[in-house]
Amino acid sequence: MKNKEKWPLSPSMESTQHISLKKQYALFIDGKWVAPNSGKYFPSINPADESHIADISHANEKDVDLAVRAARKAFPSWSGLAPSERAKYLFRIARIMQEKSRELAVIETLDGGKPIRESRDIDVPLACNHFFYYAGWADKLAYAFPNRQVEPLGVAGQIIPWNFPLLMAAWKIAPALATGNTVVLKPAETTSLTALKLAEIIEEAGLPKGVVNIITGFGDTGSALVNHPDINKIAFTGSTNVGKIIQRAIAGTGKKATLELGGKSANIIFDDAPIDQAVEGIVNGIFFNQGHVCCAGSRLFVQENIADKVIRKLKLRMKSLYVGNPLDKNTDIGAINSKEQLKTIESYISIGKKEGAEIYQPACDLPKKGFYCLPTLFLHVAQSHTVVQEEIFGPVLTIQTFRTIDEVIQKANNTPYGLAAGVWTDKGSRIFNLTTKLKAGVVWANTYNKFDPTSPFGGYKESGFGREGGIHGLAAYVKLS
Ligand code: NAP
Ligand code: MG
Repeated sequence: MKNKEKWPLSPSMESTQHISLKKQYALFIDGKWVAPNSGKYFPSINPADESHIADISHANEKDVDLAVRAARKAFPSWSGLAPSERAKYLFRIARIMQEKSRELAVIETLDGGKPIRESRDIDVPLACNHFFYYAGWADKLAYAFPNRQVEPLGVAGQIIPWNFPLLMAAWKIAPALATGNTVVLKPAETTSLTALKLAEIIEEAGLPKGVVNIITGFGDTGSALVNHPDINKIAFTGSTNVGKIIQRAIAGTGKKATLELGGKSANIIFDDAPIDQAVEGIVNGIFFNQGHVCCAGSRLFVQENIADKVIRKLKLRMKSLYVGNPLDKNTDIGAINSKEQLKTIESYISIGKKEGAEIYQPACDLPKKGFYCLPTLFLHVAQSHTVVQEEIFGPVLTIQTFRTIDEVIQKANNTPYGLAAGVWTDKGSRIFNLTTKLKAGVVWANTYNKFDPTSPFGGYKESGFGREGGIHGLAAYVKLS
């Protein structure tokens, strides 16, 4: 199907022409497109205007079993293939993704609501780079793990969320394949389309059948994958709640797991920081991808003597943010991923108000249809406030002040999470001091939300365990002896 234009074209609007989407998507199992055993399909919705994009298969236990069997059957020959040959497949996937990068970016934006500028400049290129990067490692595992025997784990069950659909699929699939594992991947129910396009790319790259299987569905599909007896590894990215369910489900089974879970990350500004640069970093830290970012800098800590200045500049900058059609290249904040997520964010905003925090939202007209939320600040919050403690996963920032370094370390670490943090200061020694004391998997200094395939990413505490990216990402898919 060629998509019709849904929005009036203006010079800044990305066209949806030449995007190839099917009306209905089957499951990708054993190198073939197969109808789901349940006969059930569910709609994929464009959150920008609530239009129906395509029907997606709802895989049940039987489909999951077929996919795991296909992956198991493919495992001996895939893991036995010369590593340099495996590398070529990964490289081919990356090249085809690059060729289709515009189409992938537009589909990511249509299906998930993120600004086209972000899909085009961040999600898709990073996803390609993950395949390129891990293609390079496939025949160099002996250098990654010197003097060790390296074996793949077997069949990896992979479950991903809706905030970076294609990128998360790449984070999961590329290191698993490079190390000789086979894969069954389940994308999130609201954003299955780019994973299905990736299945088409994998087909085009000629990957042997069964090496990658993509099954779509809901939580029950994910649960069937986790509980399948013939899975050797679960790689999960999603909420801390589901992460805990998975940990309980695999206890005692011998299945290996990496869990990338939620966050409530601190962005800390000292009075010697380059303030304008820091304000840009705060804005990016919380409003990038509508705040649907596990490592979003959702708690701002600003040193007391510069708080008024920073808040004034921040409010001014927020007034210039354009919230609207994600296909518009000028859009800074696109659509909230789903109606459910919008309700969750709105309920946190009303809790914040009820608990007595002061709210700031710039005046801005939101589109009539679709799911949108204004960028939001909560000032005068206490550490005990719900909006400070819980992950909102939306464009909502809380602001607290601090006087001393010890005070801010204590406050920043005072949540169940430990995924990321940002530190803004002119003092190198302070950066080194904080990186060791902040209980966070990533600490950015004078920048925020920077990702690269060479860098490991993952959490402390309830933000999960295991690392993805870099050599660490390889370690998550191998047995070493
Ligand atoms: P979620 O509700 O936990 O869902 C994640 C994935 O798990 C989806 O594919 C979901 O399917 C599936 N699922 C749901 N219930 C399941 C079950 N009982 N067993 C197995 N799979 C199940 O999370 P989300 O709302 O999609 O994503 C947001 C969360 O992900 C946030 O907490 C965020 O911080 C976290 N996240 C973490 C990272 C990281 O690297 N640490 C990165 C991105 C996001 P359905 O879509 O059908 O529900
Ligand atoms: Mg959608």
